[in-house]
Amino acid sequence: EEIECNIVGLTTGVSPNIDFIKNSTIETNKGVLVNRFLETNSKDIYAIGDCAEQRQAIGNRRAIEAVWYTGRMMGETLAQTICKNKIEYKPGNWFNSAKFFDIEYQTYGWVFSEKNSPSYEKHFQWKHQDDTKCITIAYHKDSLLFLGINTFGIRMRHEVFDKWLSEKRTIDYVIEYLADANFDPEFYSLYEKDITSKFNQENGKSIQSRKKSWKRIFTKA
Ligand SMILES: Cc1cc2nc3c(=O)[nH]c(=O)nc-3n(C[C@H](O)[C@H](O)[C@H](O)COP(=O)(O)OP(=O)(O)OC[C@H]3O[C@@H](n4cnc5c(N)ncnc54)[C@H](O)[C@@H]3O)c2cc1C
Repeated sequence: EEIECNIVGLTTGVSPNIDFIKNSTIETNKGVLVNRFLETNSKDIYAIGDCAEQRQAIGNRRAIEAVWYTGRMMGETLAQTICKNKIEYKPGNWFNSAKFFDIEYQTYGWVFSEKNSPSYEKHFQWKHQDDTKCITIAYHKDSLLFLGINTFGIRMRHEVFDKWLSEKRTIDYVIEYLADANFDPEFYSLYEKDITSKFNQENGKSIQSRKKSWKRIFTKA
């Protein structure tokens, strides 16, 4: 069958290629089953990266985390354990980034789709008129707690959002200090004022967008 269309998006996902251990004593499910220390059920045998499956998923994460940032963090964690400093895999706040054709995509914290979002999750969305930049911020409808952000076309600073998530900032704070998170190259256009103005308009607020402060950016949580 031929279906006429302008664009095809293929999202088949990935599955661990672990057939070669299926007949061993190492326990598997979809992936190689590991505990929080990335240990399999066999002594001195570990699994990390796309093939590792947590026996119990961590927070909202999937049991198999098939992204390269988590693969790297698992590697860093396991290196410590192998070097006699046994530590638990604690990936912290969820984040990821990718490139979709020429549009950069980033996510920090959790932004669920309308279908999957919990009843307390509310979204604020801003889209540029040229259709190549947009952000979606998820927050708690009552406490205004910042839950996560998706950005397309604007680069944001991972450390800043990681800090704000750990500090349990509100969406009002995130909007006010959004310039601190901007990581676009020098001389790129800035959109914080436009974003703040839309947020104020929709929520009856009068937040003033603050200028970027390097001091704030490099202050640890
Ligand atoms: C199309 C695509 C796009 C992606 N985009 C992103 C993205 O934008 N952001 C992101 O974070 N992640 C992305 N990922 C996921 C990311 O690539 C993986 O999470 C990451 O590469 C996993 O690293 P790994 O070392 O666990 O596994 P892999 O990189 O798959 O490495 C496993 C290696 O083991 C080898 N191997 C397999 N079986 C055997 C065997 N029996 N003996 C010896 N060697 C073997 C394989 O050949 C391979 O080289 C993407 C993946 C795909 C497929």
